[in-house]
Amino acid sequence: GTMTVGELAKLLHKDASEVIKKLIFLGVMATINQEIDMDAIHLIATDYGVEVEVKIPVEEDSFETVEESDEDGDLVTRPPVVTIMGHVDHGKTTLLDAIRQTNVTGGEAGGITQHIGAYQVEINHKKITFLDTPGHEAFTLMRARGAQVTDITIIVVAADDGIMPQTVEAINHAKAAGVPIIVAVNKIDKPEANTEKIKQEMTEYELVPEEWGGDTIFVEVSAKQRIGLEGLLEMILLVAEVNDYKANPDKRARATVIEAELDKGKGPVARILVQHGTLKIGDAFVAGNCFGRIRAMVNDKGRRLKEAGPSTPVEITGLTEVPQAGDPFMVFEDERKARAIADRRSIKQRQSDMGANTRVTLDDLYNHIKDGEIKDLNVIIKSDVQGSSEALKGSLAKIDIEGVRVKIIHSGVGAITESDIILASASNAIVIGFNVRPDPQAEATIAQEKVDVRMHRVIYNVIDEIEQAMKGMLDPIF
Ligand code: GDP
Repeated sequence: GTMTVGELAKLLHKDASEVIKKLIFLGVMATINQEIDMDAIHLIATDYGVEVEVKIPVEEDSFETVEESDEDGDLVTRPPVVTIMGHVDHGKTTLLDAIRQTNVTGGEAGGITQHIGAYQVEINHKKITFLDTPGHEAFTLMRARGAQVTDITIIVVAADDGIMPQTVEAINHAKAAGVPIIVAVNKIDKPEANTEKIKQEMTEYELVPEEWGGDTIFVEVSAKQRIGLEGLLEMILLVAEVNDYKANPDKRARATVIEAELDKGKGPVARILVQHGTLKIGDAFVAGNCFGRIRAMVNDKGRRLKEAGPSTPVEITGLTEVPQAGDPFMVFEDERKARAIADRRSIKQRQSDMGANTRVTLDDLYNHIKDGEIKDLNVIIKSDVQGSSEALKGSLAKIDIEGVRVKIIHSGVGAITESDIILASASNAIVIGFNVRPDPQAEATIAQEKVDVRMHRVIYNVIDEIEQAMKGMLDPIF
């Protein structure tokens, strides 16, 4: 969005010298070949009674495409971002709190803990960022919105309880996202704790401990008694080191909204995680369909920051509206541009809300296969009893039509839940209910996420329907 003084003068049909005079009057010392920014262009044009329309190249509302590219040398190691998941009551919240409190380092002491959606701890002079909302629902919801912020997942299992349905869900959600898993065996302070049993059960889900020839890290902890926490943090750093997470701090920031709300005193606030670049006070940005300019930034210790680099969670003010969790966030060169992009994004969203279904369905599966867009058909199975799930899995695994196969990303017993639908949405999967139906919450989400859900009572019919769909021979349903 820049041009030279000469170019602007020509566009306005004015003498360059006249434009230069105006610029000097406005406090901008300029020569004819000098580049001037959008603000100056706008001022001059308005002065001549001309309206300026900013034309934005089509791709710019997709932030990935406008992000400045990195040279190899620009990338530096950044802290890993961790999410804690697991069955209810297995200790996720206690573990998150315990980790946060282990780590009040000298320099940071005195700050007041702020809940800003994520926090950072430091161990061996290295930082780790934890997302503050435990659970795979939040994790996969972000993914369904197109945001993958987590680098490593911790699956918490209570040593006195063992693997439960939501443990399996958490494992499958993490696997579907392709995020490395560390297993934290919690509540080892309890007399009935049995870590060996947990390890044994975990092998069924291809999480095999290193001492048994696998590559999954298991750590024994007690969140309540604060046992083994340092060991867990060290293992996170180890996984981070192996995966070598990097980012370029020297460019305009790109981030993801973790939470956002309307605060009575502060107005719209967003809690965001910076992923690339460095965010600075005064930066003009777009968050989802909203725009703004960073007025203030506060970290998880309640400190005001002037800038925030990769993997840093911050609460920001300076928004014009409240964005949504999972919304992408990006800094642009000026506020006018940010506003134009935000406008464009909201128009586009309205269009896509009304428009075509982008999720895979059995009805259009064949077209996707033909166009080479789909190599596997991702499927989630829910059934009334474990036995039918297993039987279905076995039969579906045998389907191979012209190289396209069925991939079961999750299966379980019970009604189809909202979490199943979100996972399907995030992973472009269809859902099969075998003798089960969606629960009421799931019903609403199905409509919203436009996920294809099929109910059956006969295994043969499931297989037949999927095979027909793969061949493009499915009878349309009216
Ligand atoms: P969440 O639902 O997974 O977030 O579980 P919570 O963190 O709320 O913990 C559930 C219950 O387990 C609470 O009563 C905790 O105090 C207890 N708990 C959590 N961790 C431990 C632990 O390491 N040992 C024992 N004995 N109890 C724990």
